[in-house]
Amino acid sequence: MKNTEMILRSKSLSKRFGGLTAVDDVSFEVTRLGVTSIIGPNGAGKSTLFNLLSGTFMADSGLVELDDQNITRMSPEGRLSCGMARSFQITNLFFDLSVIDNLRIASQALEPRSNLFLPLSKSTIAMDRANELLEEFGLLECRNQIVGALSHGQQRRLEIAVTLATRPKLLLLDEPTQGMSQGDTQDTAELIKRLGSKITVLLIEHDVDLVMDLSKTVIVMAQGKKLAEGIPSDVRANPLVQTAYFGEELA
Ligand code: ADP
Ligand code: MG
Repeated sequence: MKNTEMILRSKSLSKRFGGLTAVDDVSFEVTRLGVTSIIGPNGAGKSTLFNLLSGTFMADSGLVELDDQNITRMSPEGRLSCGMARSFQITNLFFDLSVIDNLRIASQALEPRSNLFLPLSKSTIAMDRANELLEEFGLLECRNQIVGALSHGQQRRLEIAVTLATRPKLLLLDEPTQGMSQGDTQDTAELIKRLGSKITVLLIEHDVDLVMDLSKTVIVMAQGKKLAEGIPSDVRANPLVQTAYFGEELA
């Protein structure tokens, strides 16, 4: 039977790099809609976990399930067509292209297969989606600007828009507010909150206050392992988390 509550499940996921176990037997479940966040000090294994969930790296052991389908060995493209999209901690925008072209390229996967090799100008489905995203993300006024010339905040916003191009049901965001000003961070937090009312968001974030405010569930990682999981207030009060995370310098 289809489990309508659960969208993503990680079962005993592990990934080693040489002698280092970057992700060590991590299990958790993400319920549909809202924002679930992963926090933890630098080097805790958060981005590596995302890489296992999104198919960038293959797990050494364990399982990933999306809507009860085993996707552990599926390619990133396969996962995208199953409705899982992700952003990277390091940008994946084309800096020499315009805002609208970045959005059109990202939206291209919405075209029927037979249209995939059409020039961008003929891809009307992709174009419509790109224009929709421009408006939704307040990027209309910089439509034709080269991405490299945008402010950092606009670039990070565009990055989220790009990941949403294919209308995913699950979005993985890796530190979307990294390097942002206080104002941009607040705007992005609002944006993520709004997204969470429509789709499921799994967020890696270093700003703990932001996470506590945004998330329905928080997962804490340290040294490759899941240290704690629960509603924000419980996680904050957890003595293990206090010692391992809040007591130390934040990621
Ligand atoms: P986080 O995102 O929590 O800061 P990462 O997942 O990036 O942590 O890294 C976890 C550990 O794995 C770190 O010690 C890091 O140096 C190591 N690591 C990450 N990616 C690789 C890789 N491609 N090759 C080797 N080691 C890696
Ligand atoms: Mg990281």
